[in-house]
Amino acid sequence: MTITTRFAPSPTGYLHVGGARTALFSWLYARKNGGTFILRIEDTDLERSTQASVDAILQGMDWLGLGYDEGPYYQTQRFDRYKEVIRQLLDTGHAYHCYCSKEELETLRNEQMANKEKPRYNGRCRDHAVAIAGREPVVRFKNPVDGVVTIPDLVKGDITVANKELDDLVIARADGTPTYNLTVVVDDMDMGVTHVIRGDDHINNTPRQMNILAALGAPLPKYAHLPMILGADGARLSKRHGAVSVMQFRDEGYLPEALLNYLVRLGWSHGDQEIFSIAEMIEFFELEDVNGSASTFNMEKLLWLNHQYIMDSDPEHVAKHLLWHIEQRGINPADGPALADVVKAQRERCKTLVEMANASVYFYKEFDAYDEKAAKKAFSEGSDAVLAQIYDAFAAVPDWQGDALHDIIIKLAETLELGMGKVAQPLRVAVCGSGVSPAIDVTLSLLGKEKTLARIQKAIDYLHNQ
Ligand code: GLU
Repeated sequence: MTITTRFAPSPTGYLHVGGARTALFSWLYARKNGGTFILRIEDTDLERSTQASVDAILQGMDWLGLGYDEGPYYQTQRFDRYKEVIRQLLDTGHAYHCYCSKEELETLRNEQMANKEKPRYNGRCRDHAVAIAGREPVVRFKNPVDGVVTIPDLVKGDITVANKELDDLVIARADGTPTYNLTVVVDDMDMGVTHVIRGDDHINNTPRQMNILAALGAPLPKYAHLPMILGADGARLSKRHGAVSVMQFRDEGYLPEALLNYLVRLGWSHGDQEIFSIAEMIEFFELEDVNGSASTFNMEKLLWLNHQYIMDSDPEHVAKHLLWHIEQRGINPADGPALADVVKAQRERCKTLVEMANASVYFYKEFDAYDEKAAKKAFSEGSDAVLAQIYDAFAAVPDWQGDALHDIIIKLAETLELGMGKVAQPLRVAVCGSGVSPAIDVTLSLLGKEKTLARIQKAIDYLHNQ
């Protein structure tokens, strides 16, 4: 048997972290077992589904690197097939037309509520539906009345529900369009899904879906219902907790691997290991090791992981992601040092790529003004003379590289009988515009001779005008 999993988002918004974790677990399980991972867009809710959301979901999957073997399938392209199955269920006596009006159902509901009963359809049309002229019926599934359904849940363990708790759910609306539970069942059956991995907010649907699958004579998949993700305050994770859209994490300077690593640990563990390469995730992942209770999203831990990935990944790889941020700032990367060299220089001090991009603009572009505080601290009486000496010494350097520049600064400090800081700090502010940068020799070699000299000259002019 080939293992087949799917991720089945409804395109009613961006790809959020909850969805991304579901996708990741489904993807990992398929990859681990040499199986097939399907992407299915559940766009039957025409009012709430948008193309923009479809695009956002595809973009999110792509950025995370969660490739799919089949799809994207779109449910709106499968309406004929759903109609066929609805017909089949009617023909085999597993479904029936229901003519009850909205008002009648509402009255029934109110009566049940008043009697403190669970509101459910009473099956009035189940055995002898009376057609009503001019009223289009809905189609209801004839749920078994006796017995139980047991969900073979790999995360939560077996969950048993009595059929008498389930009523006859609508599988086709009066306009003929299929409902969610029907489309999912038909797709999971047709697509040969063996493991349904999804959020536990769907647990109530599962026994109904299993009954429909059984009525169609289809094999039953296994299920893994993933617990919710909560914010630090214990409420379900939402926008007000900060970033929840996958692409917003890109915008805020996270590496996709860091987010994946963070997500895999949300509810899953392997000993006390925290950092997993993709290959390790695939090797170690087991649905049985997913925790059945909710987990809490921790931004600080994600930030920590991101920093680890920035520091430990191949600088060329980090540079590819940094490029996006650099371009966002209207910078042409050709105007300065190779991005991988910037990564090497900045990675210890930058926890996100946003920090790194912001702290690296001066390598590529003139800054408008000196940071006021830094200038006040670094530039003092005589700084112009010090800078002028540095200028002359640097101008004479034939081979622009860090060690030589470092030696020049040290020698100059000795000759002038000044502390290293009195030389390096005015120089730093002159070339970077601020008091923070990588080691001065690294900064200068990244900046290059031409830019360095021009900026020293600019600082001298600035000091003369003071
Ligand atoms: N389309 C459903 C959702 O986005 C998921 C359905 C499923 O996984 O079975 O919540």
